[in-house]
Amino acid sequence: VGESLSRIGLAGLAVMGQNLALNIAEKGFPISVYNRSSSKVDETVERAKQEGNLPVKGFHDPKDFVLSIQRPRAIIILVKAGAPVDQTIDTLSKFMEPGDCIIDGGNEWYENTERRALAVKEKGLLYMGMGVSGGEEGARYGPSLMPGGTPEAYEYIKDIVVKIAAQVNDGPCVTYIGEGGAGNFVKMVHNGIEYGDMQLISEAYDVLKSVGGLTNKELARTFSEWNKGELESFLIEITADIFRVKDDKGEGELVDKILDKTGMKGTGKWTVQQAAELSVAAPTIACSLDSRFLSGLKEEREAAAEVFRKAGVGDILITKEVDKEQLINDVRKALYASKICSYAQGMNIIRAKSIEKGWNLNLGEISRIWKGGCIIRAVFLDRIKAAYDRNPKLASLLIDPEFAKEMVERQESWRRVVSLAISVGISTPGMSSSLAYFDSYRRSRLPANLLQAQRDYFGAHTYERIDASGSFHTEWSKIA
Ligand code: NAP
Repeated sequence: VGESLSRIGLAGLAVMGQNLALNIAEKGFPISVYNRSSSKVDETVERAKQEGNLPVKGFHDPKDFVLSIQRPRAIIILVKAGAPVDQTIDTLSKFMEPGDCIIDGGNEWYENTERRALAVKEKGLLYMGMGVSGGEEGARYGPSLMPGGTPEAYEYIKDIVVKIAAQVNDGPCVTYIGEGGAGNFVKMVHNGIEYGDMQLISEAYDVLKSVGGLTNKELARTFSEWNKGELESFLIEITADIFRVKDDKGEGELVDKILDKTGMKGTGKWTVQQAAELSVAAPTIACSLDSRFLSGLKEEREAAAEVFRKAGVGDILITKEVDKEQLINDVRKALYASKICSYAQGMNIIRAKSIEKGWNLNLGEISRIWKGGCIIRAVFLDRIKAAYDRNPKLASLLIDPEFAKEMVERQESWRRVVSLAISVGISTPGMSSSLAYFDSYRRSRLPANLLQAQRDYFGAHTYERIDASGSFHTEWSKIA
């Protein structure tokens, strides 16, 4: 019977799926839910009851699940990326009919989405890859959503996604991203940018703590203060919170008891791989990934520390008297300037891919939907949106007049922090590589003339001249 059918379906009820399903139901869209193992179905239905009798219907059988949804059907899948998505599509598509649509909400590799879109097209099914950001809280109360795929399919879910997404001053944090795997690609770069932000914040922490001697209490206060200005963002806010949490298993704060070893799931690595494929320099994002690799070598680093300690090099090379207030101010500015570089790299990766694939992505609109719901949400994104609104063809955020001015205003502090860190032996790869990126991009002449001469010397790769057109080759060894 028509009325008893659900408006939409969702398969995969782990953290993300369960919360997104409840969000959808709460916004007034009756939803059917399914999961491979049935306990999560019952759990979701129970939560729906407890959280206000939300219209969630649970199914243990995939056929009953599919048939409970009104046509043309829209089914969101939220399972582990990779093979589990293929398996879930196999299970569900058997019962789906032409015109129905599958929307993968996982952190999927964009080419998998494009492959699946082609495969299900043979059965007359539509397909979308939709990036979902914001973790558990976001999924439940308002994520940032990055749907890509057939524009026609977006119409199936538009009324739902604009309601369930985070809402900011200029609308819901969702927009149709583009064709094919564009939604997954943009979500992937979002995560790469997230890697950069987290790395830069960790470096700020290291400098303030190891050189400035700030206590956790002072760090909490500093980050809370920063969160009232240009750095205002979710990550700065949670960082301030983290410094305040006491260790429930011993003395002091929990942050000091956490092993310095970072996990990762792959989207950061994909971003760096894509940057390389597209010949886009993304040193800040790449060094964030490298830093995670190095963090993983905990035992090796401990052994190395011992080797160097014996050779006369301690953790910090020299201790320097610093003016705490000035250091805090400098680090804030260094962090902000580095962040501009990191976002410039991320946006350039998206733009290069958009050109390669003909996706016609709107960078201003993408910045807008990251303003709420997602992990990199920040007041700063408003400025990025404004930069692309001023000039949608902007070659780099660095040369937007406003950002250029902000970087110039901060460069003295930025250089001071990086120099200080280098002189005392604390690595700040994010801040240093961002500064190097700025300095390389800023200079109209680089030492690449010498490098090209070397290439021509040993490989006859030819070179161009600054004063004549054409390509030239010199028999260097005969002249030298
Ligand atoms: P997850 O831990 O990535 O995956 C668990 C879910 O996948 C369970 O429902 C599980 O079903 C299902 N599953 C695994 N293998 C399967 C298979 N072979 N066939 C069918 N189902 C299978 O869950 P999640 O953390 O909620 O994430 C879901 C997706 O969202 C992932 O792509 C993730 O990367 C992305 N994401 C996660 C977050 C986050 O904060 N967690 C944020 C953004 C995006 P069973 O219960 O039967 O095992």
